[in-house]
Amino acid sequence: MPARPRGRPTIIDTDPGVDDALALMLALRAPELDVRLVSTVAGNVPLARATANAATVLDWIDPPARPLLARGHARPLRRRLRTATAVHGDDGLGGAAPLGRGPRGVPGDAVARIVALARQHAGDLLVVALGPLTNIAAAIEADRRAMRGIGRLVVMGGAIRAPGNVTAAAEFNFWVDPEAADRVLTAGLPTTLVPLDATHQIRLPRARLRDAAGRRPSGLAARVVAITRSLLDGRFRVDGMPLHDPLAVAVAIDPSLVSTERLAVRVETASTLCAGLSLADLRTGRTAAPTDVTVATGVDGERVLELLESRVLGRCARRAPTVVVVGSANTDLAVRVPHLPVPGETVHGASLETGFGGKGANQALAASAAGAPTAFLARLGSDERGDAYRAHLGRSGVEAITPGPGRGRAPPTGAALIVVGPDGANQIAVAPGANAALSPRDCRLLTGRLGPGRVLVTQLEVPLPTVEAALRLARAAGATTILNPAPAAPLPAAIAPLVDILVPNEVEAAALTGLGVADPREAAAAAEALVGRGFRQVAVTLGARGVVWSDGVRTRRIPGHAVAAVDTTGAGDTFVGELAAALAAGLALAQALARANAAAALAVTRPGAQVRVGRAAVDRLLAAGPGNRPTRARTRRHGAQGGDD
Ligand code: ADP
Repeated sequence: MPARPRGRPTIIDTDPGVDDALALMLALRAPELDVRLVSTVAGNVPLARATANAATVLDWIDPPARPLLARGHARPLRRRLRTATAVHGDDGLGGAAPLGRGPRGVPGDAVARIVALARQHAGDLLVVALGPLTNIAAAIEADRRAMRGIGRLVVMGGAIRAPGNVTAAAEFNFWVDPEAADRVLTAGLPTTLVPLDATHQIRLPRARLRDAAGRRPSGLAARVVAITRSLLDGRFRVDGMPLHDPLAVAVAIDPSLVSTERLAVRVETASTLCAGLSLADLRTGRTAAPTDVTVATGVDGERVLELLESRVLGRCARRAPTVVVVGSANTDLAVRVPHLPVPGETVHGASLETGFGGKGANQALAASAAGAPTAFLARLGSDERGDAYRAHLGRSGVEAITPGPGRGRAPPTGAALIVVGPDGANQIAVAPGANAALSPRDCRLLTGRLGPGRVLVTQLEVPLPTVEAALRLARAAGATTILNPAPAAPLPAAIAPLVDILVPNEVEAAALTGLGVADPREAAAAAEALVGRGFRQVAVTLGARGVVWSDGVRTRRIPGHAVAAVDTTGAGDTFVGELAAALAAGLALAQALARANAAAALAVTRPGAQVRVGRAAVDRLLAAGPGNRPTRARTRRHGAQGGDD
């Protein structure tokens, strides 16, 4: 396996707690974060319980590099401990914590370790505090300079304009240890506060949790369902899972998920009625102070939910992606006609069929169906079709990475108008919509997901600069890159050296080379010409006649399988998705091409662009068919006879 590119060194200070547990899962699953220390503190539950629960979550996730677990303060700085077991269950995990006494030998020096990491990593270090701020206040007390030098402290706590939750005035974390909260917020650390004002803007609806986890959830999703059950169905019957702590971790992963204000915030410690109240100075004309903190006020709720769903819930959450697809997603509007119309002709067909398409999505789904954990970066509109697409990707086990609309109105989800003739041949017109807004900047969301052994796939239904940025990022990370230059368009010279395998069809190969590509011999010549232009390897797909590939030294042909074609829409996409999955699984290129050729042949025997081709069916066809082995394909240029048609 490739070494996991490391994220930012991170400390999670926590008192699990159901939503803390979810937050910890999200942090441990985030490639953006490299969690080095999980420090526990008394809060939702007593310290020993919090520590046992943190250890349980670590066992459940079993991250490749296990962070250190350390115990911190067992009670607030000046007060007796008040817990929230009424909400989180006596065990803190909604009754789902394993029985037993918890882990042994957990060191009790959390505060010293926080300080040590602050000294070691300084501006790189992220600290996310999900419970009362007792440990963090103690760390500041121990070494204020080091703590001021950290990169960012994200605190879940307080209520700025919103009412409290545990009392009318106070939010729970601040109410448990107001002295610690006040010390931390006035200490001049680079702090982002995530108060109830922000966290109350999102909940994970029960139906969506079920949807994402699947009907028979297993693995981590089953744990999430178990720990949230009593909160969702028990005495409180809350309408959707509150996500206070997961939002704080989400903000640590991606600060753009929230909008913020800079405010001076103090915490009331003297009063009895208002203990723990967080008081922000909201006076106009106030001068900014160095101790001001950044306060999250607005939330891009949909993106937070997607982050949680894709990283923690759902089938796709189980393994890190090995195939990453950057590309388009369209609603397909298809009509079957007796013959394809010529220009100016109107042809009446059968009723309208609506489906999911877009070359990017088709390829992502094909890779996922082929068994590769797959992530898909795409833009979808904030419309019904976009919502339906998100749900579809979730159901199909593809991790959808869909950037939010940003400023201004989001363009609509892309759409394709497809006309299918009687022999399965098609004509397609596309309205790109949101696909045209997928930007090179969006590719940053792929950080941490690409590395040696992984495969990046992209096509030309999104802007060329985005295609180039994705290829560049993948190349820099050591991933294998596949470009499907579809639909045909001229490619800037800078692209070729970034591509390991170019996969055009006949039309695209002809357009790129200016050569005729009507048969395997001509396809071989085109493939060789493209290698001459800097592409490492080229595989030209030839519909029913299979595929021809060349790396400049060898040129081979894999004949097509004899199948009854019903609908060739998306044949090339199945080919590309299967090829990526096979390469990610470690197959050599010749074997991977043979699998792709077989899967694509199976795909054309069924209607639709997103046919899920089973692995067993591909195995069977490969065992039976002639298209299981590449043969030599000579080009006319070399003066020899062509392939084996
Ligand atoms: P695109 O869908 O991009 O036009 P092609 O038509 O070249 O791509 O098809 C891609 C692959 O799908 C082919 O290389 C082949 O493996 C398979 N394929 C397509 N049509 C058929 C068919 N009629 N019979 C068998 N295999 C097919």
